Amino acid sequence: MEALKQKIREEGIVLSDQVLKVDAFLNHQIDPRLMQQIGHEFARRFAGQGISKIVTIEASGIAPAVMAGLELGVPVIFARKYQSLTLKDDLLTSKVFSFTKQTESTIAISAKHLGAADHVLLIDDFLANGHAARALIDLIGQAGASIAGVGVVIEKSFQSGRVDLDARGYRVESLARIGSLAGGTVSFLE
Ligand code: 5GP
Repeated sequence: MEALKQKIREEGIVLSDQVLKVDAFLNHQIDPRLMQQIGHEFARRFAGQGISKIVTIEASGIAPAVMAGLELGVPVIFARKYQSLTLKDDLLTSKVFSFTKQTESTIAISAKHLGAADHVLLIDDFLANGHAARALIDLIGQAGASIAGVGVVIEKSFQSGRVDLDARGYRVESLARIGSLAGGTVSFLE
C-alpha cells in the first residue's frame, strides 16, 4: 500500500535493526485518514470471505481494526492485556510474549462476544515473531470460531512471524512488508 509506505519513509524512525518506531501515525498519534485508507484496503483484500467479526489486541491494533470493521460492516473485539473487573465472566485467556516489552502477559476476551458461528479476521499493527498473532489465534480457537486470515499493517519480514503463519496455513495480508531495517534504513520487500 503506497500511501502507508510513503508515511513510513517520511515519519518512521528506525530505532535498531529490529525495531521501527511509528508513533507519529500509528502507535501514539494516529493519522485518521491513513487509518481509513488502511481499513479500506483490508476490506478490499478480505471482501466476500464471510467475515463476521474482527479480533485485534489493545492498544495499537484497535485503530486499523475499527476502520476495517467499519468498511466490512462487522463488530471489532480487542483482546485486553489485563483482567479488568468488568471482564470477569466467561473469559478466554492466552499468554503472549511482548516483542517490545520483552515480558509475558495474559490477554483475554469474553466468550460472550465470539462463538462457533463466527468467521474471524485477525488484525494487528505489526507482525514480528508472531507471538501476538499466535495468542489471538489461540483465543479464537478456544471460542470455536474459524479464521479467515490475518491482516497486518506493517510486517517485518526478516523476523519469523510471517514464515510461521504461512507454515500454519493462514492467509496473511500485510500492507507494508519490510525486508530490512539494517543501517537505519527501511527497505521494503515489494
Ligand atoms: P510479535 O508478537 O509478532 O513478535 O510482535 C508484534 C507485536 O509487537 C505488535 O503487536 C506490536 O505492538 C509490537 N511490535 C513488534 N515489532 C515492533 C516494531 O518494530 N515497532 C513497534 N512500534 N511495535 C512492534
